[in-house]
Amino acid sequence: MSQKLVRLEKFSQNCPRYTSYPPINMWQQAPESSLSNQLQKLKTVSSASFYFHFPYCQKLCYYCGCHRKITKSEEKYRNYVNLLLQELELYAGYLNNIDRIEDLHFGGGTPSLIPTDCLELIIKKLMDITNKKIIEEMSIEIDPRTCDSFKIEELINLGFHRFSFGIQDFDVEVQQAIGRIQSFEQVEALVQQLQRHKISSYNFDLILGLPRQSISSVGASLELCLKLKPSRLALYSYAHMPKHLPNQKLIDENELPNTQEKLEIIEFARSYLLKNGYKEIGMDHFALESDELFIARNEGNLHRNFMGYTTAKAYPLIGIGLSSISDFGDFYYQNAKDLTEYQERIEKKQLPIVKTHQLDEKQLKSKELILDIFCKLKIEQQKVEKIFGESNALEHLLKENLIHDIEENKNFYKIRASDIPHIRYIAKKLDPMLKDKEEERFSSGV
Ligand code: SF4
Repeated sequence: MSQKLVRLEKFSQNCPRYTSYPPINMWQQAPESSLSNQLQKLKTVSSASFYFHFPYCQKLCYYCGCHRKITKSEEKYRNYVNLLLQELELYAGYLNNIDRIEDLHFGGGTPSLIPTDCLELIIKKLMDITNKKIIEEMSIEIDPRTCDSFKIEELINLGFHRFSFGIQDFDVEVQQAIGRIQSFEQVEALVQQLQRHKISSYNFDLILGLPRQSISSVGASLELCLKLKPSRLALYSYAHMPKHLPNQKLIDENELPNTQEKLEIIEFARSYLLKNGYKEIGMDHFALESDELFIARNEGNLHRNFMGYTTAKAYPLIGIGLSSISDFGDFYYQNAKDLTEYQERIEKKQLPIVKTHQLDEKQLKSKELILDIFCKLKIEQQKVEKIFGESNALEHLLKENLIHDIEENKNFYKIRASDIPHIRYIAKKLDPMLKDKEEERFSSGV
């Protein structure tokens, strides 16, 4: 094994993905009064981001790890949108001062299944309950199997200007093994529609470590992806956890690449993108130099939340819909994951919030440190000392050559671009809450 792969394997121990700090399985329910205080504080904010979760999909992908329900019933889609509108109405009175929506994102599930007139109603409702003047970014996740050029046209007309395509892999053998068949031509037709409208903000999500994948199949998939010139690509590592995600039992374990093969595939894909003009902007994410994420990284404005990397101003992020998570900076909450419970709460005119967490001082400092690692690729000595005191918390990372002195500024350490694949490990080593016995809860760092 090459030195690179040895390091990749060594630092790919079970790690949280750190889309929140603390990770959601470490949240501790906050008192009711804290939640009401946070909601009251919303009345004073002038900008916010919104995430809408649409849980329905038409067909199950075997690898899926999301909160989703499988149905082709448009009636169910419409009934659910009705609940989203009612949930939004429950926020009326809290959001009057918001005159700038930083980011409006629809995720899922398959939000591209939401009937266009329903999307229009949601956007209108959001406008009505805020003092909206500007929506900075409107984005949506697209399943190419159930979307067509007409739908793309409708979405553009509604104001969407970033489109996220679930690709996973273009190889037919791999697609059969994961129960998700979609051709290059399907994706190409949708991208061509975007290009006709001079929209270049679209990204592709791929998964590495899937059954039947090899370096050559991934190479062929990446070559097809680059023909369509996405401004960003995300390369996610498949985590096979059939005990927690029973649908993954549909995947034949014998067809999964072994650890070394998976590491080789990951390293190959990463190098392929770097050789072809993409920059690695953070964990799993690559972007062209012209993309806002890359520019934000260079300017120190990159942020990370439940949806991944973003250029949007950080807080508050308000999650609407089943299982959605809200992030107010020092406070998180999550909506009910069960549709019946979600619906019952909405019908009783209660916000469907079931889980909360208030960050204490130390957790706030740790959150800042971990965001620095993921978004700025640097570590400030003083921030480490505020969390760990005058200890040698950085010694292990220095010894492993994962962080390096910055000559001109002794107060900072930098993480080199070549060590981006190890940032989950670096963050874990500076996470005061994480104890070894808890590691098995998290997926592998690769
Ligand atoms: S489309 Fe996405 S959310 Fe739906 S089943 Fe497939 S992986 Fe899961």
